[in-house]
Amino acid sequence: MHFQLRKCVSCNHYTLKNECPKCNEKTKTSHPAKFSPDDKYMKYRLAERYE
Ligand SMILES: [Zn+2]
Repeated sequence: MHFQLRKCVSCNHYTLKNECPKCNEKTKTSHPAKFSPDDKYMKYRLAERYE
């Protein structure tokens, strides 16, 4: 599985979509190089919850 987690440039909402579902601003890919696997997993869980 390959998910590209994205982040709204306006409200910092995490999503998998190209536009923020809350404010319709563009999102950009996050760069999780420095995050641990646990951190990434937590953000995926947050994205699921908020969508
Ligand atoms: Zn937003």
